[in-house]
Amino acid sequence: MSTIDATPPSERTRVRRVAQRGCYDRETLYAIVDAAYVCHVAFADENGVHCIPTACWREGDHLYIHGSNGSRMLKLAARGAQLCITITHLDGLVLARSAFHHSMNYRSAVIYGVCEIVEGAAKASALDTFVEKIAPGRSREVRPGDANELAATTVLRVAIDEAAAKVRTGGPKDDEADMTREVWAGVLPLALQPLTPIADAAPTGTPGYVQQWHETACA
Ligand SMILES: Cc1cc2nc3c(=O)[nH]c(=O)nc-3n(C[C@H](O)[C@H](O)[C@H](O)COP(=O)(O)OP(=O)(O)OC[C@H]3O[C@@H](n4cnc5c(N)ncnc54)[C@H](O)[C@@H]3O)c2cc1C
Repeated sequence: MSTIDATPPSERTRVRRVAQRGCYDRETLYAIVDAAYVCHVAFADENGVHCIPTACWREGDHLYIHGSNGSRMLKLAARGAQLCITITHLDGLVLARSAFHHSMNYRSAVIYGVCEIVEGAAKASALDTFVEKIAPGRSREVRPGDANELAATTVLRVAIDEAAAKVRTGGPKDDEADMTREVWAGVLPLALQPLTPIADAAPTGTPGYVQQWHETACA
């Protein structure tokens, strides 16, 4: 991961602790968003602060979310609520020689902003993009959303402008005095891993994206 851009786009996006792990360039941010199926959307209303997990995808310079028109989160976001959206990929548990220096490897992003409502042809197209993210080619195979389904769905997008990424990689960072301690030290890697597909129906055979999922699962 590069740290090409070390200048935060705003004061509130400045990573302070271990600031060298912070980066603000689009390449890093987009890679983190594209690797995610889920983000957490934080917002406040008269009942306090809420943080809601929801599906996400990226198109160009925007992160998209969608859901039922009845969703509190989407209703507030569509009305212009200030949002803070986070994505976290946990890449490993870092086992140091001291309890204090245990850590985690991760790629994370925090995006601040206010959503725009996506409507009309752009809305249908954004939902197709989401289906394509899940399974490339699938939007041409399945029944498209009908007028009622589209009308019942809110699609919103937020510009990935006021955003920060933070990335930790590598092994434990131990104190010199602990380096001779006789204890296992290193990284226990973790990954979101495809598993063997479970068919519910396969009348026309196995599509390429399912085959590829299967091959990745078996690799
Ligand atoms: C999987 C994981 C586990 C972590 N565990 C711990 C832990 O146990 N204890 C701990 O103190 N910290 C932990 N962190 C780091 C934590 O996310 C913060 O970076 C940390 O609390 C330092 O915040 P700060 O005071 O420097 O910044 P803050 O003042 O809290 O944040 C300032 C701004 O920096 C940006 N920012 C801060 N953190 C991140 C981030 N992780 N990703 C993207 N942008 C960010 C945001 O724009 C934020 O508004 C963990 C992170 C991850 C992803």
